[in-house]
Order: sequence, then C-alpha cells, then structure tokens
Amino acid sequence: MKDVIIIGAGVIGSFIARNLAKYNLDVLVLEKNNDVGDGTSCANSAIVHSGYDPHAGTLKAKYNVLGNQMFPSICKELDVEFDNIGSITVANSEEELATLKELQKNSDLNGVKTILLNQEELRKEEPFVTKTAIAGLLAPTAGIINPFELVVALMENAMDNGVKLHLNEEVTNVEHVGSTFKVTTSKDTYEAKVVINAAGLYSDKIHNMVTGESEVVTPRKGEYYVLDHFAEKYVSHTLFSVPSSKGKGILVSPTTHGNYLLGPTSEFVDDKSNVSVDNDALAVIKKEVTRLVDNVPYNYVIREFSGNRAYHNSNDFVIRNYDNGFISLMGIQSPGLASSPAISKDVADMVVDYLKPSMNDSFNPIRRPLYRVNKLTPEQRNELIKQNPDFGKVVCRCEGITLGEIKDCINRNCGATSIKGVKKRVRPGFGKCQGGFCESTVIKTLANELGKKPTDINLSNNGSYIIFERKESVK
Ligand SMILES: Cc1cc2nc3c(=O)[nH]c(=O)nc-3n(C[C@H](O)[C@H](O)[C@H](O)COP(=O)(O)OP(=O)(O)OC[C@H]3O[C@@H](n4cnc5c(N)ncnc54)[C@H](O)[C@@H]3O)c2cc1C
Repeated sequence: MKDVIIIGAGVIGSFIARNLAKYNLDVLVLEKNNDVGDGTSCANSAIVHSGYDPHAGTLKAKYNVLGNQMFPSICKELDVEFDNIGSITVANSEEELATLKELQKNSDLNGVKTILLNQEELRKEEPFVTKTAIAGLLAPTAGIINPFELVVALMENAMDNGVKLHLNEEVTNVEHVGSTFKVTTSKDTYEAKVVINAAGLYSDKIHNMVTGESEVVTPRKGEYYVLDHFAEKYVSHTLFSVPSSKGKGILVSPTTHGNYLLGPTSEFVDDKSNVSVDNDALAVIKKEVTRLVDNVPYNYVIREFSGNRAYHNSNDFVIRNYDNGFISLMGIQSPGLASSPAISKDVADMVVDYLKPSMNDSFNPIRRPLYRVNKLTPEQRNELIKQNPDFGKVVCRCEGITLGEIKDCINRNCGATSIKGVKKRVRPGFGKCQGGFCESTVIKTLANELGKKPTDINLSNNGSYIIFERKESVK
C-alpha cells in the first residue's frame, strides 16, 4: 500500500513529490513518458512571472505572487539556474498606455511592485525596443529559469530523499475502492491512500475517471523561434506585449543561457500531442514581435518549437481536494511554472492534513551541484581535470560541455536515459549545431554508462531510436 501516488512528473507533480519527501510517506510518482518534464513543462517561455497581470482574486494571482517569492531560495537549494531580470510590458499607443495603467492597478491589488516607464526611461532600459513604443510597465521581481533543470532537480532531490519514480508507466484507470484507491497502469496495479492528479493536458481524463464528472482540458498551442546566444545583449528584460483575451501575447525574452525566445502564439488545437510548428504561426510571431523590438536578428534562429497549454474553461487553475484522498489539478496553464512552488506547497499541506504523517528528520533539501565546467575559472578547471580527465574532454563545442558532465547527469538519481534527457540536463544539442557534432558521442556515452547498445538509445520516448542495425549485407 502506497501512501501517495502522484500521476504525472511535470513541474507540478515533481514539486509536490519533493514537498512530500519532507514527511515520512511512501510516495510513488507514475509518469507515462521516458523522462520527467517532457510535457508542457519543457516547452514554455521559462518565465517566473511577477504576478502583476492575473486578475486579482483568482488562483492564478494568488499562486503566482507566492510562487515568485519562493523561487530564489529553492533554486539555490537545488542548484537551478534562475535570473531575476524583471519584465517590461510595452505600450505602442495611448490606448495601450491606458491598459498599462489598468494593469498597474491590478498589480497593486496583487501586491506586486511595478514602475511605469516613459519613452526615454524605456529606451534606456532596452535600446532595441521598437521605435513606436511610448511607455513600459516594469515588474522588477519577474525572472527567468531553466525549466528543464528545474523539473529534473526537483525529482532528483525528491528521490534522494526516498520518493520512487516509475517512468514509461501510464495510468490507465483509477478506482476508489473502500477507503483507498486502486491505480491500474500499463504495467501494474497499486493501492494508495491518496492519489494526486498532476497529469497536465490529460488531467481531465484522470479527473473524470475518478469523479465521474465531465471536465474538459483543451490544448492551446504556443509556437516559438529560438535565437542563438550572440555577444551583445539584445534585450535584457522579458518584453511583453499588452495582453489580450488570448493571453499574455507575444514576448521576447532572454533565457538563462543567453539565447532569446520569440513567441508564443496562442491557438486552440484538437490534438493534445500536436507539438508541430507551422509557417503561418511563425509569420504571426514575426509580425507581432515588431510591437516589441526592431531589427530582430533572424539569421541567429537555431530552432523552432511549440508547447500546449492545458486550458480549462474557468480560465483559472482548478485545484480540488476531495474528502476521500483524491486531489485533482487541472487548467495549470501559464503562470503554472511560476506558481508551481506555491501550488505544490498547498497540495502537500492537503496531504499532510489528510494523512497526518510525521516529519522526515533526515530530509536534505540540497541537491549535489552540477559541475558547470564552462563557468569555472581556468584554475578550477585544471583542478577538476586533475581529479577526472573526462572534465577536460569537450563533447559539445557550441555550449562547452564535457564528457565528465554528460556521464554525471546519467549517473544521478533521475538520471538521463535518452539523448533529449542529456540535452535537458547539461545542454549538448542546445547550441548552434543542434547536436550535429556531439550527438554520436552522447549516444556512445549513454550506451556505455547504461550498459546498452547504441541501437537501444532513444532520442526521447521509447521507440524513438535513431541508429538502426543494417540487416542485409552491403553490396
Ligand atoms: C506556450 C507556453 C508558454 C508558457 N509559458 C510559461 C511561462 O513563461 N511561465 C509560467 O509560469 N508558465 C508558463 N506556461 C505554463 C507552464 O508551462 C505549465 O503551467 C506547467 O508546465 C504545467 O506543468 P504540469 O506539471 O501541470 O504539466 P506537464 O508538464 O504537462 O506534466 C504532466 C505530466 O503528466 C504526464 N501524464 C499525463 N497523463 C498521464 C497518465 N495517464 N499516466 C502517467 N503520466 C501521465 C505527462 O506525460 C506529463 O509529463 C506556458 C505554457 C505553454 C504551453
């Protein structure tokens, strides 16, 4: 009998798992994918929003503001990249300026500090801002985070403290039997006192299975351009358009590695697994981004990607705590990432109220830091190479990642098992060549470390092999 089963290892499920590791509880996380954080949590704008714009009184407003305040210390504990760069919402007309003033009133209600910048002040902050911009609303507490690293670090720390994770195991049925739950998966059946639905886009399916209700979560796609990091700072804050009914609108934002994101679009789609990118959406980005910046260096585009928001018709987060031990989260769309520390704390508190566990006195909140060789001084690098020569062998030339770092990310709790898993953890494949030069070494290293053949190594999910054995002889 498990105390708690969490369905889904996105940022929400992983954060809840880490919070529950602080108690003496038997916690199992079930994830249908081959890795944690491969759903919406790996395809977003990576912004820890300040909380200035969600309507005051909504759950989005409550959890965003609280979550934003919690990130700096959590990221320090988990060694996750986070940068408090601030955001600016840009107005291009008197009408948009009036909206900025309304937004400022809303931010006051949410208790979030904002500063209205005039044209000159805005241009001083952001020299590349579009010539038509007349004002900006600065939210100094906004930040950017490495979302891939965050989910992995949360789960690694949760596992270091006793949580169990089963990957490639899809929950197919949940039944309330007597006073507990029978959870059936693609591989097994479990019994649990508490079940937490953190299944993101598929949370409606799990919710309806358990409650018999007919909730609907609709995918709303957002597509992006990614620019390579280039020497001079292009924008130093996250720049937002004035929001519309479709959401926050197109943005331009640096990432924690100095890349730039342009996007996202916002369109409802039929298929939750559809993460394609199409030319029409990219054309919308190119048009809309002119409301923010001039002279976009499109010659630096290295990738396009998309993610699907889990939209619920309340247009707010839905967090329901049933008195039988079922806790269900739906509609965790943006600002779900920014809100995740606060949402997960409340959900963990609900579990504690229900099960009344004792504290885990041996809980260690600190994750062993990554090596981050490209950030070391030459002296520190030499010292590390003396201890282990693998830290002197650069595998990814674009991002400066060594063999030692790749091996390390495979051999931790919640370690990488796929090419994408290595990329998300230590970045080979994120650079200009997109893995063209380093992928073969990554495959070889995964195979060696995991005791597998290179033909067994997946790009991401099971079955996504990229090397095949030739059966017939070559003529
Ligand atoms: C375009 C876009 C931009 C965004 N930008 C931001 C932003 O800048 N800042 C911000 O705060 N938020 C942003 N968000 C929102 C944020 O990304 C999400 O709120 C957050 O990632 C949701 O996390 P999650 O854990 O609920 O979902 P997910 O990450 O999707 O995790 C759910 C997990 O459940 C698993 N699962 C589903 N069904 C089952 C099953 N039956 N059995 C087992 N496992 C299952 C899935 O495989 C998945 O791994 C954005 C979202 C999008 C799409």
